[in-house]
Amino acid sequence: MTQAPASKKPAKVASKGKPGSPAKGPDLLTHPIFDELGFQQDPNNLYRQTVSSMLQAADLMNLPHQLKIVLAQPKNEIMVNFPVRMDDGEYRLFKGYRVQHNNALGPYKGGLRFHHDVHLDDVKSLAFLMTMKCSLVGVPFGGGKGGIKVDPYKHSKAEMERIVRRFTTAIAHQIGPDYDIPAPDVGSNAQHMAWIADTYTFLSEVGGHQPEAVITGKPVEFGGSLGREKATGQGVVDTLIEMLPELNIDIKGCKVSILGYGNVGSWTGRILQDRGAKIIAVMDHTGAIANDGGIDAYALAQHCQKFGGVGGFKNADKIDKDEFYQTKVDVFVPAALEQMIQEPEAKMLNCKVVAEGANAPTTPAGERVLEQRGIEVLPAILCNAGGVTVSYFEWVQNKTCKSWDLEQVDHELNKHMIRAAGKVRDARKKYKCGLRTAAYIGALERLKAAYEVRGIFP
Ligand code: GLU
Repeated sequence: MTQAPASKKPAKVASKGKPGSPAKGPDLLTHPIFDELGFQQDPNNLYRQTVSSMLQAADLMNLPHQLKIVLAQPKNEIMVNFPVRMDDGEYRLFKGYRVQHNNALGPYKGGLRFHHDVHLDDVKSLAFLMTMKCSLVGVPFGGGKGGIKVDPYKHSKAEMERIVRRFTTAIAHQIGPDYDIPAPDVGSNAQHMAWIADTYTFLSEVGGHQPEAVITGKPVEFGGSLGREKATGQGVVDTLIEMLPELNIDIKGCKVSILGYGNVGSWTGRILQDRGAKIIAVMDHTGAIANDGGIDAYALAQHCQKFGGVGGFKNADKIDKDEFYQTKVDVFVPAALEQMIQEPEAKMLNCKVVAEGANAPTTPAGERVLEQRGIEVLPAILCNAGGVTVSYFEWVQNKTCKSWDLEQVDHELNKHMIRAAGKVRDARKKYKCGLRTAAYIGALERLKAAYEVRGIFP
């Protein structure tokens, strides 16, 4: 294993114990477990940040020490390097990852990120979050995550196919329909999943049933589930519908801004619009746009499909980054990458609720500012759990050779989201804590119960 980079982002996170620091209570980024396990000292390190939020919840609920250390590190960290022939005949070496965080509740489960800036620490954090998410939302899976250090938009379809199939071959012995089940994530899509399923099926031709169940998020034509493509956005909306009334916000007419307009952002926008909300500002890597009268979420999704981002969309004004964050809305949905809502962004935000569509979009320092400003955060392990929940339905359909209609998928998803939101609400009441801590407690309670009966071998 190579050492992961300290942090991708500039060190703007509040340092501990600074005079005038808004932090109250124990500093989120120190914990005896970090020293015991030799964690990186950098408070901006994503893995340290992610685990620190869990440890805060673990301390509050008195989680046994052995579970804290087991959950603070992944079980397996797999890194592969593999050569692929480019269209011009030259070979390039690619790096791929699969981190298997925990499988106490079932097979490892989680997406594959295709991004030029993916590092081991990102993958570890995301795998960790999958364990928590699957536990909270009540599916029988553990947590895993993987990826390839590649910019999928810079390769031809033929090159991507060779990259994806070669990566699948490199990790084929480490995954399986009953062991570790990948899925799409940032930069990967249903076509990539189809190539993975096909390659894995080819490699495992002599044995195994339903080899296509090795991966979810497949095209509907090849073992995919209806409703999987929109599932994460649907889950964000289901969570909002469940949580907004107690915050005295009506979804009808509610104003929304969205950061990132890929799968999660665009489906959240479209479904929210269908429910009567108004999308008034959107930003991605190509620019920021606003229209107080409402941006047509469907037209914007089509524009992004054609032009690769929101930049240049007609029927909206071009705004700058600061204006985007300062736009007055009821709900802000970060649906892009990790660590995007740091202290400066949190200070600028003019919203009542942050609904985390992305994984780990808010840093601990950003979160402290939001808390101080009375902005409610619906944490990612609850809010964006819709994707993996429908992945579970896809896996069940593959395993039972059945196909569900969309109504059944949406109905079952809604049940899981409402149940998970209920667990978070109960934990918040019982432990008098914020929603993120409550969500971790909800997840940890199920893991604790499983470990109590399973024990730790030998
Ligand atoms: N990549 C998605 C997530 O972060 C989905 C994972 C899955 O379906 O396994 O939740």
